Amino acid sequence: MQFENTLEFAQRLDKQDTLNSYRDHFLFPKVNEKQVIYFTGNSLGLQPKNAKKYVDEVMQDWEELAVEGHFYADKPWWDYHERLANPLSKIIGAKPSEITVMNTLTVNLHLLMVSFYRPKGKRYKIICEEKAFPSDQYMLQSQVRFHGYDPNDAIVEIKKRDGEHNFRIEDILDTITEVGEECALILIGGVNYYTGQVFDMKTITKAGHDIGAFVGWDLAHAAGNIKLELHDWDVDFASWCSYKYMNSGPGNASGCFIHERFHNQTEIPRFEGWWGTSRETRFLMKPQFEPMPNADAWQLSNAPILALAPYLASLELFDEVGMDALIKKRNLIVAYLEYILKEIDAQVESTFEIITPSNPKERGTQLSVFLHGEGKKLFEFLMKNGVITDWREPNVIRLAPAPFYCSFEDMFRFGQILKQGILEKNSELSS
Ligand SMILES: *Cc1c(COP(=O)(O)O)cnc(C)c1O
Repeated sequence: MQFENTLEFAQRLDKQDTLNSYRDHFLFPKVNEKQVIYFTGNSLGLQPKNAKKYVDEVMQDWEELAVEGHFYADKPWWDYHERLANPLSKIIGAKPSEITVMNTLTVNLHLLMVSFYRPKGKRYKIICEEKAFPSDQYMLQSQVRFHGYDPNDAIVEIKKRDGEHNFRIEDILDTITEVGEECALILIGGVNYYTGQVFDMKTITKAGHDIGAFVGWDLAHAAGNIKLELHDWDVDFASWCSYKYMNSGPGNASGCFIHERFHNQTEIPRFEGWWGTSRETRFLMKPQFEPMPNADAWQLSNAPILALAPYLASLELFDEVGMDALIKKRNLIVAYLEYILKEIDAQVESTFEIITPSNPKERGTQLSVFLHGEGKKLFEFLMKNGVITDWREPNVIRLAPAPFYCSFEDMFRFGQILKQGILEKNSELSS
């Protein structure tokens, strides 16, 4: 498609967009009394209008039924979390039995490592990506130390080449081959939080299995963003947070995927609690743990219903629309944003560089832009003018036009504000 940097063209794309009306299902903050252009759905998704209703339902049930709500609420609390597995399974590319919802992301990755990081003899190393999200780095280091190893020796980072912004698949596969039978686990972020690069999870998972390692994925920036086929890719385990692209609310519950070949395994190590025991006999309060025959065996506590309510509201929207439609719009809106960025860059003195892969297969919703020179001032200008984006040191803004609620007109307007900001900054510098 031949794009144009005009309001009319952007509005025409909005008219043709079958998801355009979904914008009205979300609540937008305002700056200068105008709805913002929201680029941070990769950090905290906007609030679905239905979220409050679902929370209110739980409050009402609590008020009117109190403890009886566990069994007699319209959506009973004792198995509330199971309602999320079905819509999530379609987003994640899994069977519903392979999904469970609990805790938060870092907590879940630790718990999953109880099952999937089992160093023994010379097989004790973990492969991850260089400059992984800090929480993942702390998690891996503390796990390795917990097992009595030195992180400097036991953690092997996949490196980028000098002067390059993204990882190359051949370098990843080379590292996997080099570590070989010393590798116990490969754990990488499926979409890099900084650059937005999408990893080839299928190929990497297979390479990991070929050397006898477990392979897990941190899907914080992947879930609700890109096409996932975890079951078919034969991934061992994965976890994600729900408050980024999945719009469930700040700090909200995480989800886990555990491949079905690990269900009903009696020898697999796991930290257990009463919500993982068979639902048939859970309330008989028996001393013996009888694991659920699915991923719910990894559940420990009874679920935080007030947190799951907005998560469920959001997942119902995903279920209505489906990932294929979201991805179709995503590809177009990201391509349009990329075009706008290049247009503006050509019109003003060049000040920025897109570090996200230009190949649509290697990126999702996010474009990361490296601002040369006085980037922070430009970032502040954008924020003051109703463009919500985020700043990552040393010099990067991340732009994620979530297809659920961002419009093509937003992209055009953003371009105009960006251009104004650069021109003002340049004239300040030259005066
Ligand atoms: C956002 C994010 C997290 C956040 O972890 P929490 O435990 O939910 O605070 C972890 N890892 C990655 C890669 C992230 O992008």
